[in-house]
Amino acid sequence: CGIVACILKDGRAAPVLLDCVRRLEYRGYDSVGIATADPSIKIKKDSGKIDEVDERLDLADLPGEVGIAHVRWATHGLPTSENAHPHTDCTGEIAAVHNGIIENYLELREELEAEGHRFRSETDTEVIPHLIEKYMDEGMDLEAATATAIKKLRGAYAIAVISSREPGRIIGARKESPLIAGLGDGEYFLASDVPAILNHTDRVIYLDDGEMAIIDTEIRVRDMEGNIIR
Ligand code: GLU
Repeated sequence: CGIVACILKDGRAAPVLLDCVRRLEYRGYDSVGIATADPSIKIKKDSGKIDEVDERLDLADLPGEVGIAHVRWATHGLPTSENAHPHTDCTGEIAAVHNGIIENYLELREELEAEGHRFRSETDTEVIPHLIEKYMDEGMDLEAATATAIKKLRGAYAIAVISSREPGRIIGARKESPLIAGLGDGEYFLASDVPAILNHTDRVIYLDDGEMAIIDTEIRVRDMEGNIIR
């Protein structure tokens, strides 16, 4: 029910992400997870309260300056470790977190399975990394593949995506679910709401419906057609 992502100039993303997701706890959740790109994707996730999961898995103990995190309020699939976010593509090279509901996920999943994609969870979310994988395999970069993937989605979403194929980058997008971008001192953030990142910055960009944020050494906000907004 909440997402956070960050790129830090110096330092590990995972402890910062853990601090930020704790500030989303008030929204209610049943599972928690973090993925980083170093440059390969590493994930720790499970169902349960943040403190319990952290005790079991040591969530902050992940390498890398780039990462995404999630607290889940299950809508599709029980609260299990497989269904906890982040979710990945077949290769484990693309990881995504998502708030909201993908209404046409079954139809997309069937299409992807027919093309050879193998799914590991029961969530609606998992179609997102698989769609991005499909378009990256066709030659698109992470930004274009994500833009093309979300054009296929019906429903509500705020997402954040990372990939070991472009490890210094985070792509965010939203439709009918909130998402903000934050600019710190050599640090960039995406989050579901301002309190999540207030410890780190109060310079915030509110993304509008249908906007994407591309974060690497700067933040670029664009619409679905690729027009730069700010
Ligand atoms: N629909 C997704 C799921 O069930 C996301 C839920 C959420 O917003 O936390 O995993």
